[in-house]
Amino acid sequence: MIKTLELARPDILTLQPYQHAAWVPSLERMHANEMPWRASGDPTVSGMNRYPEPQPEELIEHLAALYGVPPENLLAGRGSDEGIDLIVRAFCRAGRDSIIICPPTFGMYKVSARIQGADVIEVPLLKERGFALDVDAVLAAWREGVKLVFICSPNNPTGNLMDRQAIETLCAKLAGKALVVVDEAYIEFAHVESLATRIASLENLVILRTLSKAYALAGARCGALIAHAEIVSLLARVITPYSLPTHTVESVLKFTDREHGQESRTRIETLLKERTRLSERLAALPLIRRVWRSDSNFVLVECADADRVLAAAAAAGLIIRDPRSQQALADCLRISVGTPEQNDRLIRGIAAAAMPTGQRNTSSP
Ligand SMILES: *Cc1c(COP(=O)(O)O)cnc(C)c1O
Repeated sequence: MIKTLELARPDILTLQPYQHAAWVPSLERMHANEMPWRASGDPTVSGMNRYPEPQPEELIEHLAALYGVPPENLLAGRGSDEGIDLIVRAFCRAGRDSIIICPPTFGMYKVSARIQGADVIEVPLLKERGFALDVDAVLAAWREGVKLVFICSPNNPTGNLMDRQAIETLCAKLAGKALVVVDEAYIEFAHVESLATRIASLENLVILRTLSKAYALAGARCGALIAHAEIVSLLARVITPYSLPTHTVESVLKFTDREHGQESRTRIETLLKERTRLSERLAALPLIRRVWRSDSNFVLVECADADRVLAAAAAAGLIIRDPRSQQALADCLRISVGTPEQNDRLIRGIAAAAMPTGQRNTSSP
């Protein structure tokens, strides 16, 4: 057993997993109490009357190739949200263990920990250094029982990529003490290499990837957890049986093929141009004080009057995210980059909201 696995909950390490119906495609199924006929109109290839293969071999090999890792290092789940939940449940003992997060960051790490009864230690990102990771502070915050350190890179909602070397240093210094979980939901928008290939030498590194953002498949609910094979095996025993719906599996295989991969790359290039344009135009508006540099598909803006910007967006028929309850984000809003038309509409709406009342919606005073 690898040393990192010793950090897992002992009761999970010895858990006898649910024995699902054997997967033997060469035989006709009379062992899973399924209906032998399909529902009329069932559009799937394999038939929704049948339970799906638990970790479908074709899907796992496909995702592994997509992310450049061996199949035994990848667990597919219902979005990266399931990966977050699984790793917290498998490693944190309720009432005893804890996780470290670096706020402002993605909300699910804390929610999953709280559901599991794990404590949450917060080590803020360094706002004055563009929300950089505070490696020394994370290391200083580690204590007995801290099992996981969550790092979101590029970070949601600040948009910035974390320093690769800083993450590798954390992994090395926390070896045998904690797992470092790097959430790369937006990595495709950053034009840098994923850390996924580093799992071969960093035993306590876990990477989360998702099809929800770059591949336009948020509704399919599919993500991947990439880690040492022994960690993947452990989590495969905790995941719900038949967790990946037939619809999801077939959609993912169809919409992430070579052709759709090319479509995704083209759209990302368009989106990145729009990100630059949107950022520049927003920065020039009187209601916007600052636009943070982004490595993802959204931008964080600091407003002179955030309520007025929110209202202007709504008046233009658009909803943007209000993350102001999060530490260090007073007056900030998060805007997902839209189509050129949507971005224009938002810019016009915010520009109009800054004018004195008498001038709004008129071309001359
Ligand atoms: C959107 C997002 C996810 C995606 O989760 P899925 O469950 O894969 O849709 C994960 N992490 C972060 C930081 C996100 O913003």
